[in-house]
Amino acid sequence: MIVAIDGPAGAGKSTVAREVARRLGVAYLDTGAMYRAVTWLALRDGVPVGDGEALAALARDNPIEIEPTEEGDRVRIAGRDVTADIRMPEVAAEVSEVSAHPGVREQVVAAQRALLASGSWVSDGRDVGSVVCPHADLKVFLTASLEERARRRRADLRARGVEMDAERVLEDVRRRDRLDSTRAVSPLRVARGAVVVDSSEMDAAEVADLVVRLVEDVRAASGAP
Ligand code: C5P
Repeated sequence: MIVAIDGPAGAGKSTVAREVARRLGVAYLDTGAMYRAVTWLALRDGVPVGDGEALAALARDNPIEIEPTEEGDRVRIAGRDVTADIRMPEVAAEVSEVSAHPGVREQVVAAQRALLASGSWVSDGRDVGSVVCPHADLKVFLTASLEERARRRRADLRARGVEMDAERVLEDVRRRDRLDSTRAVSPLRVARGAVVVDSSEMDAAEVADLVVRLVEDVRAASGAP
């Protein structure tokens, strides 16, 4: 069983996907964390974020390890646990540029497909339902208003001890929306067959309830227990 939850930055995808995975008893794959890991390594090694070829080589030579845990995925690259570091604003500011390079996506998508082929997962990102796993059992496109997404992102950062000006967070989310939606390869879009959920007026628990109900509907329709 594969559940794909895509949508723009700050829509609450990871909170919802983690909770749905927990309730279904399956693993959670945070695909954005993989692009963040490549970005983190590029920044550490001084690889320019505009150099697609060098970045693709970096991704190819440094396999990303994902270890699903109750708290979310632990992420390792180049022998380092980067789980916390990939959430820093420096990485957030560059990740959309890094992830727009076709060679980077090729490497990362291949790694994602290999993981998803290994069992049941709930996965979130931008292109899980449209590109990585178009045959997912359930596809959800989770969105919310720009203001609400920026508010959530800021609260999220604050919970991690990072204080950021509201205006700057809004600008970062707006900029990533633009980059993610307009890039040539795998732009953010509603996958064919996806259920669109606007969570502007819902909390994460309500959205998770809804997604679990949708999974139950899919299971019932396919005759599964
Ligand atoms: O979801 P998260 O904010 O961690 O994703 C970070 C960035 O990684 C996104 O802004 C997007 O540029 C990229 N991404 C992507 N495809 C995915 C997941 C994330 O391009 N499936």
